[in-house]
Formats: sequence, structure tokens, C-alpha cells
Amino acid sequence: MKEWRCIRCNKLLAVIDGDRLHIRFARGHEYLVGYPVTSVCRSCRTLNELRDGNAIAAPSKGSVSANAI
Ligand SMILES: [Zn+2]
Repeated sequence: MKEWRCIRCNKLLAVIDGDRLHIRFARGHEYLVGYPVTSVCRSCRTLNELRDGNAIAAPSKGSVSANAI
């Protein structure tokens, strides 16, 4: 599963769920939103924008090799 993280502090903002973004808050609030999406980091207040889930590389499975795209 791909993760959308803050460009500044790397805090997890949401996870990529196919063609949508899965945002989860405390106490059971969850949102599935389409692109593009904008979020202010709850930690450092940096504005993060995501136009497409494909813009985020899939996490490596324990490998340190570069993306093969
Ligand atoms: Zn941040």
C-alpha cells in the first residue's frame, strides 16, 4: 500500500487506495477522496498537494534499489 507523506516532516497524511485517497482521523472518522487533493500537515502545517496517486512511488519491499519505472 502506498502512503502519502508530508513533503517536509514525512508525517503520514493518508494512504493511496486505488484511484482514491484514504484519510483516517481519530475516533473513527474516515474519508475517501478523489484527486487532486490538498492537505495541511497536522504536525508542521505545510501545505501538501497531490494530483495523482501515481505520483507516489510504491514502497520498496525491503529493497534499497532505485525505482524501476
Ligand atoms: Zn509535516
